[in-house]
Amino acid sequence: MSAVPLRTADLGRTERQRVVTVLGATGSIGDSTMDLVRRGGDRFRVEAVTAHSNVEALAKLAREFKVRFAAIADESRLGELRAALAGTGIACGAGEAAVIEAAARPSDWVMAAVSGAAGLKPALAAVDRGATVALANKECLVCAGELFMERALKAGAQVLPADSEHNALFQALASGNREELSRVIITASGGPFRTWPVEAIEQATLEQALKHPNWTMGQKITIDSASMMNKGLEVIEAAHLFALSADEIDVLVHPQSIIHGMVEFADRSVVAQLGAPDMRTPIAHCLGWPERIQGPAARLDLAAIGQLTFEVPDLKRFPGLRLAYEALRAGKGAATVFNAANEVAVAAFVARQIKFGMIARLVEATMAAAASDGTARAPASVDEALAIDHRARNIAASLLPQIAAKAS
Ligand code: NAD
Ligand code: MG
Repeated sequence: MSAVPLRTADLGRTERQRVVTVLGATGSIGDSTMDLVRRGGDRFRVEAVTAHSNVEALAKLAREFKVRFAAIADESRLGELRAALAGTGIACGAGEAAVIEAAARPSDWVMAAVSGAAGLKPALAAVDRGATVALANKECLVCAGELFMERALKAGAQVLPADSEHNALFQALASGNREELSRVIITASGGPFRTWPVEAIEQATLEQALKHPNWTMGQKITIDSASMMNKGLEVIEAAHLFALSADEIDVLVHPQSIIHGMVEFADRSVVAQLGAPDMRTPIAHCLGWPERIQGPAARLDLAAIGQLTFEVPDLKRFPGLRLAYEALRAGKGAATVFNAANEVAVAAFVARQIKFGMIARLVEATMAAAASDGTARAPASVDEALAIDHRARNIAASLLPQIAAKAS
C-alpha cells in the first residue's frame, strides 16, 4: 500500500506562527487556553488578553506572554492595571470598549471565553474583522445567534465551536455532507442532581449545585449544568452553529462524559467524538485547526472506564431543558429572553435570594411575560437583541420578589 501524502501543501502554513487573542483569559476556559498556548511555545504569539476585574491574574498573564494589549472590563481597575504593567511597554485599557478593542486588534485567532451575554460585542468585533473565532461563550449565540452567524458569514470569519459537545459535532460532521445529516445528539453528564428526586432538587444549596461530578468550570456554567439549563443553552447553540431545527437535535444523558457528541447520517451511521472530560481537548482542536496539535489531556482508557451508560433526560425534574426547546421552537426573541432570564436567575441563586428550583420558574415566568408584552419580538440587529436582553432582565428582576416569596 502506498503511503498517503501528509498534506505536504500545508507544511509552509503549519510552520507559520499563529497570533492569538484570549477574551476572558483569567477564567476556566481562558486558563485552559493559556495552558495550551504556553505548551505551544514559539508556535503562538499572544496579541491581547482580557479579564473582568482580576487585575493581578491579568497582569501576570500579560507579562508572562509578553502581550501587546491587556484590557480589564471593570473601569475602576484601570489605575491598578497600569501600575501592574508599568515598565513593560504593554498597552492597556479598561471598560467594555477596551475589551472590544482587544478583540478588534489584528490577530489570526480569538478565543471568546467571556461568560454570559456580556461577551457578545467583543466576540462580534473579532468576527467582523474575519478572524478565526473559537467560541466557548455559548450565551452570545443564544442571545443573538442568527445575527451572529450572519455577521460571521458576511465577514468570512470561521467560527470554531470550543464547547465540547459542539466541537464533537464539528469533528463528526466532517464525515459527511450537511444534506446527508439526519440528526445530532449532544450528551449531558446530568450534573450533580441527575439521580435526585424533584423535591430535593428544588431545595438544593449553592454548595451542592457547585459540585459538578466530571468538569471543573466557571461558576455560572456549573450552576447551569446542575439545572441542565446548560444543555438547553447548548441545544440553541447547536441550532445556530450548524443550522439545525429543534427536531434535529437530541440530548442524551451520559454520566461518564466520554462521548461528547454524535452525528447520525442518512444511512444510519452514527459518528461520535470521544475523549476524557478535559476542555483542553476541544480547545486544542480549535487552536490547531485545521491541523492537529499535541493535547495534554489524559489518554482515553475505555477498559479502565469499563462502561458507558445513557439515559433519556427527565424534563420534569429538569424543566430548563424543556424551556430551551420551547424558546428555540418559538423563535424570534424567545431565546434572547430565555438566556437573559437565566442569567438573572443564576445571579439570584448565587446571591441566595432564590431556591434552586426557582431558577427555571423565574425563566418560565419571564418568557411568558415577554411573549405577551411583545418583548420577545424578532431582533433586526444586534443592538435590538441587546435591548431585548436588557428588557428581559428587567422583567426577570421585577418577577424575582414574587418567585422568591413562593420559595419560602
Ligand atoms: P469563568 O467565569 O471561569 O470565566 C469568565 C471569564 O470572562 C473571566 O476571565 C472573567 O474575568 C471574564 N468576564 C466575566 N464577565 C465579564 C464581563 N462582563 N466583561 C468582560 N469579561 C468578563 O467562565 P468559564 O467557565 O471559563 O466560561 C466561559 C464561557 O465558556 C461561558 O460562556 C461558558 O458557558 C463557556 N464554556 C465553559 C466551559 C468550561 O469548561 N468552563 C465549557 C464549555 C463552554
Ligand atoms: Mg458543553
